[in-house]
Amino acid sequence: MIIILKPNATKPQIEFLRDELSGRGLTIQDIQGETTCMLGLAGDTSMLSEDSLIRHEFVERVMKVSEPYKLAGRRFHPQDSSYEVAGRKIGGGAFTVMAGPCSVENEAQVLSIARDVKHSGADFFRGGAFKPRSSPYSFQGLGLDGLELLKIAREKTGLPIVTEIMSQEYLDVFRADVDIIQIGARNMQNFPLLMEVGKIGKPVLLKRGLSSTIDEMLMAADYILMGGDTPVILCERGIRTFETSTRNTLDLSAIPVIKKKSHLPVVVDPSHGTGYWDLVYPMALAATAAGADGLMIEVHNQPDKALCDGQQSITPFLFDRLMRNVRKLRTAVTEEA
Ligand code: PEP
Ligand code: MN
Repeated sequence: MIIILKPNATKPQIEFLRDELSGRGLTIQDIQGETTCMLGLAGDTSMLSEDSLIRHEFVERVMKVSEPYKLAGRRFHPQDSSYEVAGRKIGGGAFTVMAGPCSVENEAQVLSIARDVKHSGADFFRGGAFKPRSSPYSFQGLGLDGLELLKIAREKTGLPIVTEIMSQEYLDVFRADVDIIQIGARNMQNFPLLMEVGKIGKPVLLKRGLSSTIDEMLMAADYILMGGDTPVILCERGIRTFETSTRNTLDLSAIPVIKKKSHLPVVVDPSHGTGYWDLVYPMALAATAAGADGLMIEVHNQPDKALCDGQQSITPFLFDRLMRNVRKLRTAVTEEA
């Protein structure tokens, strides 16, 4: 942290502040510019409030130098994190694909899609049982019955399952039955939920909030990581912008930016990221080329009849083509790295 003092700050005022700060165990370094005097603070400044410093009339400005997140950041964890989840590697050079319908609808639908995406090479089956719908009048998901259908799909195909938790009420059920717990965009800043999910030790897929910055997503990841040794996978799923031609604006630059700031693996969801099925294929390839650690893709066997997000769901046929070309692209972009 750097404290910039006003040009008219007096020596006694500066000494007073120095004493106060060193009393808190901080090391203070004078930085004398041509016209400005600054104090550089080293040590744990996390408990120091910027507001209390700026209240001193002789303080001009306070600048935070360290990031607002710690556990998700690279400063104390420079190497990439990678995990093994249900026998599948995530991060650390692996490429992980999670695919399936937005919502679990019935057994025939779930089994048909799960078999198809497995055949095309998906690593995880994703499907929503508890759905966070903007309208209370839309299909809300099958809840616990949906979770049972996901378990049947896992049993029949061997694909581990990813599904969204919306309430702490179901933590025990998710701990017992789910391979990766998804925190959806709308709950990215549901801090009590993040803290509780972080305590149960199950891998968590954390989706970026609808209007969240990357730093806010990394702080949300810290809430989960504070609970212990929980594997956290980040998911870029598009953010709200002024653009209306797409449902969201898929922030592809988030991939290298997150990689610079964080050691956590990052997967990309071009389905919610664009909102249109015909944009999923090009943006999935773009995300792969930009260095994503994997993809999350909505696949439906009858998109026109889907109870949720049919307009952005691709068919198993297109998913198969996507997987073949993603594999080719991966070879091309990772060979020379
Ligand atoms: C989903 O994955 O089906 C979903 C609801 O995503 P998001 O939270 O990103 O909107
Ligand atoms: Mn969806």
